[in-house]
Amino acid sequence: MYILGKEEVEAACKVVESGRFFRYRGTETSTFEKEWSEKIGVKHTIAMTSGTASLISGLVGLGVGPGDEVILPAYTYIATALAPLAVGAVPILAEIDESLTIDPQDVERKLTPRTRAIIPVHMCGVACNMEAIMELAQRHHLMVLEDACQASGGTYQGKMLGSIGDAGCFSFNQFKIISCGEGGALVTSRQEVYERALVYHDSACFMSTYSRKLRIPNFAGMNFRINELLSAILRVQFTRLDGILSALCAEKRLMMKELEQETAFTLNPIHDVEGDCSTILSLLFESPEKAASFSRDLLEENLIVDSPLRSYGMVYTQWEPLMQHRGAHHPACDALKLTKFPVTYSQDMCPKTLSILGRTLHINVSITRSQEETMDFVGRIKKVAQSY
Ligand SMILES: *Cc1c(COP(=O)(O)O)cnc(C)c1O
Repeated sequence: MYILGKEEVEAACKVVESGRFFRYRGTETSTFEKEWSEKIGVKHTIAMTSGTASLISGLVGLGVGPGDEVILPAYTYIATALAPLAVGAVPILAEIDESLTIDPQDVERKLTPRTRAIIPVHMCGVACNMEAIMELAQRHHLMVLEDACQASGGTYQGKMLGSIGDAGCFSFNQFKIISCGEGGALVTSRQEVYERALVYHDSACFMSTYSRKLRIPNFAGMNFRINELLSAILRVQFTRLDGILSALCAEKRLMMKELEQETAFTLNPIHDVEGDCSTILSLLFESPEKAASFSRDLLEENLIVDSPLRSYGMVYTQWEPLMQHRGAHHPACDALKLTKFPVTYSQDMCPKTLSILGRTLHINVSITRSQEETMDFVGRIKKVAQSY
């Protein structure tokens, strides 16, 4: 979350005063869904309690289940990796490339006759190589569920992220570009994907009136419904999205322009610079030792940069349930134990990912720094870079 103002407070107050918290009693959620569909350029949006809920409902919508394998990157938030297990499918980890997004060539290597879907993750607001992924998916008849949880409003070759694959997922938790504390959305233009996800996220549509209009039979689901209070806040946040993105983009462009000549590091490649959400600037070094010493030297200049290896829960080595091969609370529900084609997960299974992350440093882009402050910030990075 980058901006929070009195508009969010007023919108939330209105809902409290109305007493209409339930999404089918008010209009905030349905209005947000219409607005988001229009923005993303899809037929349907289902707002939900979280990005995780939208990933799981998306997999249900795509018909993914037991016996299926789902390929996803070894660098993403843990929720991406756990979502397949929630529908009985097996997560298969693929390496990332220097863009820090899934490496399409490694996806190709990880294919088996059981592969059903790919979850490309637009990590740090940077689009995946969607051209290669969509081509590969078409060639092998695979479904694509885009994880755009860190990339609200980003684009790839002029298309909104989330609208390129069969379905897309967004998160509006505290740490995302726009936020209502906890929230998410699933988007799709495919009717059957929409209907299955709708039923699944809404306790078999027991409380709603649309169930009679569905073309599919309803089935047992969860309750992942968002409430009106959160949707009202989200609608205000949505009005801020374009402003946040253009401010982020302006600062990142300035930093990139100033730093691209440096020889101590290179800037991690970006598949579509125009569509980058610009939340993070990534610097790539020749060796992990160089990256570590550069980060120590920056600290002396009072600049704090992060190693993506230390980011919380984003690297596969930290995904304990997978590393311990515990895919569910009960062994009889555990896709990792039920599969006839067991998969092993180990700390060293994606060496290329660990190498790239170890050589990368992350700088958070800010929307509150003035141009002078940004130049001063960049100047200190350049000063350190000169001694390399
Ligand atoms: C935040 C995030 C999620 C999950 O979102 P929640 O709303 O916290 O459930 C999934 N994937 C990625 C890449 C994320 O960054």
